[in-house]
Amino acid sequence: MQKAMTIAYEVGENLYLNITNHCPCACTFCIRTMSDGAYGSDPLWLEHEPSLEEIRTALDAFDVAKYKEVVFCGFGEPTERLEVMRETARYLKARGVKCIRLNTNGLSDLIHGRSTAADLEGVVDVVSISLNAGTEEAYLDVTRPKFGAEAFPAMQRFAEDCKAYVPQVMLTVVDVLEPSELAAAKRLAEQLGIRLRIRKFDNAATRR
Ligand code: SF4
Repeated sequence: MQKAMTIAYEVGENLYLNITNHCPCACTFCIRTMSDGAYGSDPLWLEHEPSLEEIRTALDAFDVAKYKEVVFCGFGEPTERLEVMRETARYLKARGVKCIRLNTNGLSDLIHGRSTAADLEGVVDVVSISLNAGTEEAYLDVTRPKFGAEAFPAMQRFAEDCKAYVPQVMLTVVDVLEPSELAAAKRLAEQLGIRLRIRKFDNAATRR
């Protein structure tokens, strides 16, 4: 496993941020098990979890305002470092970034032991939550969260809560799901009143 301090990396018109390697899941399709980077980036395994100061310094090497979106993503779950993420987002907004997206597994409430959607207010413009499956059984099989059966309902609750605090909320699945699983995901998204984005499977990227 190659390590580096790749905190920010370009993906098309966007700038992606890698602020943590911690994650409560062990997804069967996780890019971390297949590669040391994503989209041709330098290694995304971090030598250490970057401080806010290190993140700001890394961002100062980029003209952050020119990107279509700045995306919290990377080789871990960004909400593991909720406060660092919030401070980083404030820094980005102050530097003229128009759209900040959070790509998340939606388990922030379980990570922090409290409801966390309100923490995203004024911090991110878009939250994209990995639904990954349409049924609890398939979800657990694929994501293998350390929280076990609590994870699927908690992820849905977080997604619903986000609607009150984040301008744009979406759920995502990849297009390689079985048709029945995809149909179940569509029904679930409809019940939650949240748009479902069906992504093309891309093994050069993480879940997002
Ligand atoms: S795909 Fe994302 S949520 Fe799943 S294990 Fe990897 S980093 Fe964690």
